[in-house]
Amino acid sequence: MTSDLEDQLRAVSLRVTRPRLAVLAALRDHPHVDTDTVIALVRADHPTVSHQAVYDVLRALTAAGLVRRIQPAGATARYERRVGDNHHHVVCRSCGTIADVDCAVGEAPCLTASDDRGFAVDEAEVVFWGTCPDCATEHRSEIHQSGRK
Ligand SMILES: [Zn+2]
Ligand SMILES: [Zn+2]
Repeated sequence: MTSDLEDQLRAVSLRVTRPRLAVLAALRDHPHVDTDTVIALVRADHPTVSHQAVYDVLRALTAAGLVRRIQPAGATARYERRVGDNHHHVVCRSCGTIADVDCAVGEAPCLTASDDRGFAVDEAEVVFWGTCPDCATEHRSEIHQSGRK
């Protein structure tokens, strides 16, 4: 498993370091986490890795295209390993949970602009906003309880 991550670093000409492997492993197991969560996950296994090292690694991995940075409006930046397939995200307005939504068309750009203003459009990024199943259930039971009072 680890050698697989090492290969990915070498494929983009990044030196294999322990913090880089740790960040990749954390994101493999936990997609769509913010920087603080990545730091906590990495430091749980590697207490000597500093906050600054994790910041630097996230920046390097994002620049190299191994990690995708997403930032829904009003939310903190999240990171994920699933790159290059032009998938989209659905975000819960209530708790901020993010889930993947496959691109409906399968390749970028999956939407055609009504007027591209002469730009050569090569990508469209869609964020779907709504209520996740957990929050919907909670909301329903609240209504249910208050109705019984
Ligand atoms: Zn939610
Ligand atoms: Zn995703």
